[in-house]
Amino acid sequence: MTMTKNPIHYAAIALAIPALMSFGTPDNGACASCKKFDDGVAKHKEVAKSSSIGGPVKNYSVLKNYVSSNKLVRLNSGNGYLVSKMNYSYPYVTAKAHQFIEELGQSYMAKCKEKGVAYLPFIITSATRTKESVAKLTRVNPNAIQESAHLYGTTIDISWVRFGAEQKHSQKNLNVLIDALMDMRDKETCFVKFERKQACFHITVNESKIGDDEEVTNQMAVR
Ligand SMILES: [Zn+2]
Repeated sequence: MTMTKNPIHYAAIALAIPALMSFGTPDNGACASCKKFDDGVAKHKEVAKSSSIGGPVKNYSVLKNYVSSNKLVRLNSGNGYLVSKMNYSYPYVTAKAHQFIEELGQSYMAKCKEKGVAYLPFIITSATRTKESVAKLTRVNPNAIQESAHLYGTTIDISWVRFGAEQKHSQKNLNVLIDALMDMRDKETCFVKFERKQACFHITVNESKIGDDEEVTNQMAVR
């Protein structure tokens, strides 16, 4: 993998999406069914700790080393999803987490089609943090303790409030996303916590339930 020289750019794409979507969030229970996603902080931490990178990412320089050795891969926008600008995390995840995101994106797109819902990609707002970036985040978000799962390369946040490049709220797209995510949760390929204030689904990928690359590639080819 090639890498730009220091510093790694936080922005995965040039979308000016605020990293923290907690501002301007509909606070009217618009996502009653989101509450089904109630895997607790302890579960996320436990699963995250068993990630293939084997320990928390201490700082930027350690993260860079993981990228150089392919333990972490770049997360770019793909089929079904956009990756927003990130201020307190870096758009890098483990290979298995990347596979999970690809699979979720494919499933989400297929379900949009099935249900006749106009496709708008979902938005990944946060990925891997370092101990340093969590320390900064703690100053603006007192709940950042939960964010410690983000230190292991397998935890991401997906907005439930905004969809597509125009960041539109869409109940229809949200319903499809919930459906696709619930399928993945049922297979225990991930654990999910609905974050109302942070306006996201906090998702930790369970690498032990993710098949190898070829299997997923073949499944995608069949579709
Ligand atoms: Zn999170």
